[in-house]
Amino acid sequence: MWIIKKTKDLKEIIERKKSEGLTIGFVPTMGALHEGHISLVGASRKMTDFTACSIFVNPTQFNNSADLEKYPRTIERDISALEAAGTDLIFLPDVQEIYPDQNIVPKKYALGQLEEIFEGKHRPGHFQGVCQVVDILFKAVEPDMVFFGQKDYQQCMVIHALLAQTPEFENIKMHILPTIREPNGLAMSSRNMRLTPTQLNIAPTIFDVLQFFKNNISAGSLTTLLSDGERTLLQAGFKPDYVAIADAITLEPVTNWDGKQKLVALIAAYLGEIRLIDNLILN
Ligand code: AMP
Repeated sequence: MWIIKKTKDLKEIIERKKSEGLTIGFVPTMGALHEGHISLVGASRKMTDFTACSIFVNPTQFNNSADLEKYPRTIERDISALEAAGTDLIFLPDVQEIYPDQNIVPKKYALGQLEEIFEGKHRPGHFQGVCQVVDILFKAVEPDMVFFGQKDYQQCMVIHALLAQTPEFENIKMHILPTIREPNGLAMSSRNMRLTPTQLNIAPTIFDVLQFFKNNISAGSLTTLLSDGERTLLQAGFKPDYVAIADAITLEPVTNWDGKQKLVALIAAYLGEIRLIDNLILN
């Protein structure tokens, strides 16, 4: 397994692999890896010949500096897990390597509504930062396929929009893989490491509420269903940012359902200092 820190070296290896006729799969991450990340590596290994994974805690996507500082970093463990999973190459750049000129005014990506609702609204600038780093990483790796988790549903749509508006990415195929959960339903997340044992017991309530929506939704007004879900979260000790049901494609919030439109339920809520997000396709 290659461990590479410089873009120049990364490009050299990828070019060589491509000239040998291999297809390249790419899994971008911020480290503190768990089975969710490893499932993306597994999918890439199945579908491509050479799997590259990046670990880079991207400062430009954090709108909260304390969150950036406290983001878990477990690099030695991550490297072992990626090696055991059969990753071919890890790209481990530092901030200077990704953003050599900090004075450059970042490009503005056209994300429309996507950055005005849900994660976009509650984390101003977050998706611009995501696009900025993914743009740089995709141009460095030039993958045939990229692998993302449904856990970050809105992010998947943002990446889709980035691919659609970038001519160089025309041939990149994006795969979205299911959310990997703990046996109690809690979506695996690097941030779970920061939860106390008590909070870890409470955290699966988010998935309980998502399932409650799925099991109880019916055509007509969704207002009572949503407020019941929100109340459950508040009673468990969460501070919700949003509890919503939206069109699964456009993410337009839906409060009155025609019984046919494809829906996704989305939740973001704080447990103490830790902000958790999760989602579930309802129909
Ligand atoms: P992150 O390191 O949090 O930036 O995540 C890197 C990739 O792993 C993203 O595509 C995430 O959506 C994905 N991911 C994170 N958690 C999970 C999970 N529980 N199941 C599946 N994919 C996940």
